[in-house]
Amino acid sequence: MDLTIVHTIQELQQLLNERRKQGVSVGFVPTMGFLHEGHLSLVEQARQKNDVIVMSIFVNPAQFGPGEDFEAYPRDTERDARLAAEAGVHILFMPTPEEMYPQEGGIRILPGPQSAELCGASRPGHFDGVLKVVLKLFNIVDPDRSYFGMKDAQQLAIIETFVRDFNLRTEIVRVPTVREQDGLAKSSRNVHLTETERLEAPAIQQALRLGASLVAEGVSANDIEQQVSKAIVTNSSGSIDYVSLLAYPELKKVDADSKEIIIACAVKFSKTRLIDNIIIPLKG
Ligand code: AMP
Repeated sequence: MDLTIVHTIQELQQLLNERRKQGVSVGFVPTMGFLHEGHLSLVEQARQKNDVIVMSIFVNPAQFGPGEDFEAYPRDTERDARLAAEAGVHILFMPTPEEMYPQEGGIRILPGPQSAELCGASRPGHFDGVLKVVLKLFNIVDPDRSYFGMKDAQQLAIIETFVRDFNLRTEIVRVPTVREQDGLAKSSRNVHLTETERLEAPAIQQALRLGASLVAEGVSANDIEQQVSKAIVTNSSGSIDYVSLLAYPELKKVDADSKEIIIACAVKFSKTRLIDNIIIPLKG
């Protein structure tokens, strides 16, 4: 099956309706494009369980705040189409903002307490915009399974809650973070790092690993957050947006019931802000 590129909701649904008549299962990979191996690993996972793979590429204005990088977000649709085809995507949905949001305003979706932390705290309204586009895409594509990366661990946790709370039909599949050889999490935004910043950026993952080793030693959450922050600013020119240690996927303070810990951070470089995290299973 070759790659078909569609730009409108109607075209996409026509195509999917035809395929569904043959009783196929649909795997969905939503992205903002400028594809890298992280995105392609979602496709690889999706191919293992689904007959038809739909990828969306949409830089969603609703999840960018004023002064954020919506305009500067990297875009290259020709390259993306080639990579998607090579990876085995069957249908690439690339709507315009007008196609997705024909009217201003409308209904807002308010995520719960999981959005009060981490990126939700530093990007007000971000997850409202994420949930709005995700719900629209789920309704448009009606996928059997949808694939999300652990790189955006808070987004994934909130989407899992959303699906459960609203009885959405799709199954959410978690996909591990794909990294560069030096440990930097692959991200479309990495192209905005200067040469020096690119050399420094692996300090983020190294600091998170240090944090994980401190968890094993029983160091307090506060001290871990401070030591991780210090390691990042000492070894890079990045400034800390946040470093936070919480229970995952609840994103609240760790307590006796917690099964996993996340140490998550956002670090600002001159032209871009990077996020990363590490998950630590708790024994017993
Ligand atoms: P984005 O295009 O950055 O919005 O990401 C689209 C999807 O790809 C999201 O589910 C991300 O979590 C996932 N993703 C982005 N970077 C990575 C990565 N390095 N490894 C695995 N998944 C990723």
